[in-house]
Amino acid sequence: MLEYDDHLAVAVSGGKDSLTLINVLAKLESRFPKSHVTAISVDEGIDGYRDEALELARKSCRHLNIKQVIVSYRELFGVTTDEIARTNLGQTPCSYCGVFRRKAINKAAANIGATKIATAHNLDDEVQTVLLNMLHGDPMRIVRSGPVLRDPRGKFLPRIKPLCDILEKEIVLYAYLNGIEFQSVECPHGHEALRNDIRAFLNQLELKHPGSKFTLQRTAERLRNSLAETVPLLELHQCEKCGDPTPHELCEACVMLEAIAA
Ligand SMILES: [Zn+2]
Repeated sequence: MLEYDDHLAVAVSGGKDSLTLINVLAKLESRFPKSHVTAISVDEGIDGYRDEALELARKSCRHLNIKQVIVSYRELFGVTTDEIARTNLGQTPCSYCGVFRRKAINKAAANIGATKIATAHNLDDEVQTVLLNMLHGDPMRIVRSGPVLRDPRGKFLPRIKPLCDILEKEIVLYAYLNGIEFQSVECPHGHEALRNDIRAFLNQLELKHPGSKFTLQRTAERLRNSLAETVPLLELHQCEKCGDPTPHELCEACVMLEAIAA
């Protein structure tokens, strides 16, 4: 995943996973003089939740001597997640928030001249997503996601997930043992309902049949390796509104922003 002279843009929300990741990467960076690590924090505009997390992220970055860049939805998109949650658009705010967060991080990473984007998805997140995609009837999305994403067209920065093989509970343990103070409050807008059920199911499965999560991860990896060649690469154009690469006339974020404005 890593090269000796990478400039990593690390998505740091202030939760246990991202603060563990930035701590580990800061340690690694100190051993490679040509590498850089910059934290990117996104302020989605979630009252009573995000401020605490941003403050924890700020404290951690200062302690590690890592530069932190904060980008906000208000500034980039003119709307916050709280405002989106109050509209009646038929979808959960999480689906908007996910698309906007990806775009915000991409933009910030490009601005600082990063070579890669690192996110703190853990093993639990990864296998939940595999099952979620299966239950959504979208197996090709399993092939297009995964721990390392490189765009052969060179339009998007490579994305890596260094914690993808670490169980969530081991990350919590690492954070406690290293005195990492993280936010433990859940987002007031909740999570996707189906993902919650999958999380509970996988935890139960792992308890009765230890190793199940790893097996699922390895299965997805083998699927990706054997199917990667068969998934056609969509041709990318520039979004007519924002100029970002997209296979359609408008990128997903601009379509959503139009729906919110309407
Ligand atoms: Zn756009």
